[in-house]
Amino acid sequence: MAVSDHVDLPTFMEGVKKRNPYQPEFVQAVQEVAEDIFEFIQDKEEYHAQQILRRIAEPDRVVSFRVCWEDDNGNVRVQRGWRVQNNNAIGPYKGGIRFHPSVTESVLKFLAFEQTFKNALTGLPMGGGKGGSNFNPKGKSVREIMRFCQSFMTELYRHIGADIDVPAGDIGVGGREIGYMFGQYKRITNNFTGVLTGKGLEWGGSLIRTEATGYGAVYFLANMLATKGEDLNGKTAVISGSGNVATHAAEKIVQLGGKVLTLSDSGGYIHDPDGIDQEKIDWVKTHKTHRRGRIEEYVEAYPRATFHAGKTPWGVPCDVALPCATQNELLGDDARTLIANGCKAVSEGANMPTDLEGVHVFKAAKILYAPGKASNAGGVAVSGLEMSQNSERRSWKEEELQQMLKDIMAGIHKSCLAYGDQGGGYIDYVKGANIAGFKKVADAMLAFGVV
Ligand code: NDP
Repeated sequence: MAVSDHVDLPTFMEGVKKRNPYQPEFVQAVQEVAEDIFEFIQDKEEYHAQQILRRIAEPDRVVSFRVCWEDDNGNVRVQRGWRVQNNNAIGPYKGGIRFHPSVTESVLKFLAFEQTFKNALTGLPMGGGKGGSNFNPKGKSVREIMRFCQSFMTELYRHIGADIDVPAGDIGVGGREIGYMFGQYKRITNNFTGVLTGKGLEWGGSLIRTEATGYGAVYFLANMLATKGEDLNGKTAVISGSGNVATHAAEKIVQLGGKVLTLSDSGGYIHDPDGIDQEKIDWVKTHKTHRRGRIEEYVEAYPRATFHAGKTPWGVPCDVALPCATQNELLGDDARTLIANGCKAVSEGANMPTDLEGVHVFKAAKILYAPGKASNAGGVAVSGLEMSQNSERRSWKEEELQQMLKDIMAGIHKSCLAYGDQGGGYIDYVKGANIAGFKKVADAMLAFGVV
C-alpha cells in the first residue's frame, strides 16, 4: 500500500476551516475530536491512507429545504429546514431535530458529527445525523406549531425511513412536535413504521425515553465518582437548563441523595439554597413544558430562591456540575471558577456545552470531566431500544429498560477507560470517548472500501 503523506493536525484543521467557511461550531467539534484522533492514528497507516477522519468530517449529505407555513393571522412565513446525514457506517442515520432561532447549517453539522461518535459508543447499530430549523417555537400557538411541523415533514419524509434515517426530538422538539411530525409522515406515506423516536407510549414510543438523557448523564457521573470511591450522596449539584435533560438530570441527582442548587434558561438562572427537590422539579416541568413559562417565575413560587438575570450558574460553589442547556454555555473562565470553587466532576447533559478553552482547562486540572458524546448518550441509546421494540412490535417493561440504560452507560464508561486511562489515577474521558467512538466507525468504513 502506498504510504500517504501524513498531514499534521494544524494542516488538517486549516483544510477543515477552508472547506467550511462561516461554520465555527462545526470546525470546533472537528478540532476537539481531531486533537485526540491524530495522536491515536499516528502509527496506524491504514486510517491515514484511507482518509478516515477526513471522510467522517465530511457529511454524507446535507439536505436543505424551504418550510412555508401560515401563522394565525394568515401571514405566509418562510423558514429553512435541514437534515444532515453525517455517517451511516454502523447503522441508519440517527439524531434529533432542533427547532430554535440559533439553528444554522454549522450547528447541525457539528451535532451530526458528534452524534456519529456518540451513537457508536452506545454499542447499538446507529449512524449519526441531525436536523432542524431556525423556526422559533416560543410564543407560537399550538395550531401554528402543528402547521409548521406538518410543513417541515412534508419535505423531510422523502429523506428518512425506519432503515434509512430515524430522527428524534432535541431543543424545541418534544413529544407534541414528534406527534405532529409522525402524524404527517403516516398521512403522506400510509406507513406506520418506527421512523421517529420519542413517540407517545400509545403509538410506538418507549418507556423512559423522556427521562433517559438526564438520567443517563447522572449514571455516567456516578460511574466517574465511583472510580474515586465516591458517590452522589450529600453532593451539591449545579445544573443549567430547565428543559427535558436538565429536569431529569436534577430528578436523578435527588434520587441518588444529592442536592440540586440551580436551574436556568436563556433568561438567567435560579439559585435555591434549600435545594430543588422532587416537588420543585415537578413544578418546573409543568411550568416550563406545559405552561411554557420562564424560570425566573420560580422565585415567586419559592421565595427563598434568587434569580440572576442574563447569567449562567457556574459561579455557584458545588461538588458536581451538569451543563444541560445548549452549546458553548460554559466558557474557559467558567471552568476555572468551577475548579477554584472545588467542583470535582462535570457531566455534560447538553451537546458541546463547554467551549474548547473550557475543555482544555478541565483536562489540565485533571478533574472528572465527561464530554456530552459519552455522558448524554442515554437518550439516543433508549431511542435505539425504541427502534428495536418497533421492529419487533413489542414493548419492554420499565424495569428492563432502566437496567438496559444503566448497563449501556456503564458500558460507555468502560469504553472511555479503555482508551482514556492516562495512569496515576487520571482518566481523560474526552480522549477515551473520541477514540472508542472513532475506532468503531472507522473500522466499519475500512471494510467498505472507498465509498
Ligand atoms: P429543551 O428544549 O427541553 O430545553 C432546553 C433548555 O436549554 C431550556 O431550558 C432552554 O431555555 C435552554 N436554552 C436553550 N438555548 C439556550 C441558550 N442559548 N442559552 C441559555 N439557555 C438555553 O431541550 P433538551 O433538554 O432536550 O436539550 C438540551 C441539550 O441537551 C441540547 O444541547 C441537546 O442537544 C442535548 N441533548 C438532548 C437530548 C434529548 O434526549 N432531549 C439527547 C442528547 C443531548 P429557554 O426555555 O429559555 O429556551
